[in-house]
Amino acid sequence: MKIHEYQAKDLFRAYDVPVPDGNVAFSVDEAKKNAATLRGFPVVVKAQIHAGGRGKGGGVKLAASMEEVETLANDILGMTLVTHQTGPQGRCVKKLLIEAGQNIAKEFYLSLLVDRATASIVIMASRDGGMDIEEVAAKTPERIIKVQVDPLMGIQGYQLRQVGFALELPGAAMKPFSQLLSNLYRLFIANDCSMVEINPLILTSDDKVIALDAKVDFDSNALYRHKELMELRDLDEEDPLEVEASKYNLNYINLDGNVGNIVNGAGLAMATMDIIKNAGATPANFMDVGGGASAEQVENALRIILADEKVKAILINIFGGILRCDIFAQGIVEAARKTGINVPVVVRMEGTNVDEGKKILKDAGLNLTSAVDLFDAAQKIAATVK
Ligand code: ADP
Ligand code: MG
Repeated sequence: MKIHEYQAKDLFRAYDVPVPDGNVAFSVDEAKKNAATLRGFPVVVKAQIHAGGRGKGGGVKLAASMEEVETLANDILGMTLVTHQTGPQGRCVKKLLIEAGQNIAKEFYLSLLVDRATASIVIMASRDGGMDIEEVAAKTPERIIKVQVDPLMGIQGYQLRQVGFALELPGAAMKPFSQLLSNLYRLFIANDCSMVEINPLILTSDDKVIALDAKVDFDSNALYRHKELMELRDLDEEDPLEVEASKYNLNYINLDGNVGNIVNGAGLAMATMDIIKNAGATPANFMDVGGGASAEQVENALRIILADEKVKAILINIFGGILRCDIFAQGIVEAARKTGINVPVVVRMEGTNVDEGKKILKDAGLNLTSAVDLFDAAQKIAATVK
């Protein structure tokens, strides 16, 4: 689960990771009120959306006076901000962070993330901060240093110094930086983060280190341990269909193809997406109704996929194990009755009670095409959307 920069900075404050003074604003009036509490100008007006690259997209601007705060807040609030991370449709800006402008001597990159390959927390840092780190990684990977932290040992003093030296920080900034990194690590572990990124981390002209940007991603599987963090969730920033699916415990991810698919089991869902692609079509979603889905869940899954305008056909691929084929078929019939299926549907069903399931579908008189196996299903669905 991602959170906004202003929320991440509140969390940073709670762990003594230095950030500029600032406050969130939901209106132009509030933006001016917040600016008045800061010590002078410049003040930075920052769009709050769950995507990076806001600066380049025109969502981060410096104001030299209260009039400029007003103009910028007016411009940025409500704008559709397009960055390399939002996709071409962009994101509507609904809140701003009004922050004290900092005197930047140097910008660095610093992040912590979970590295599954080495089962460790990796610290990544670079002297090339402020810019696209993806570009640095692609063109000059040697300019990014990586330090692995054993989660059982925790971060060690020598590792803090190792990163500080690699960033070639001045002597006076070494201790504050070590404290910052050690506090950031503490925050990371205590909140079950999957990623924390500061880009840029700045060095000021008086040798202070400050997090100028803040990105935090929590491990969603651990959120049940952090009720207070769940309150930071912003549904405005999530795909409405994905939010709807999460209410029914459906594992749904919206993709850009036009073949909707409903599958029981994540592995089977991956295989189904592969085979759709192999047949020359593109999946519109990942939808795993789960091994033990109820008829109601199947109905919700179909309703959600039908609500997606991209979807031109649906492939239903069910292996009846814990979820029996007859239960599944009932869900489909219910959904068809309530929502009306208005796109071609290909069904491949195997496993427990398959004959009962097929009979239920047949008796319902729905306009479904049945497939003998997964390969046949993929061919039929690809032919339909072509
Ligand atoms: P994004 O990564 O989404 O573009 P950032 O928060 O990194 O957004 O801001 C973009 C740039 O704006 C930063 O690299 C920095 O140069 C400048 N900036 C951001 N916040 C401040 C601030 N408080 N004071 C001065 N400059 C800032
Ligand atoms: Mg940034």
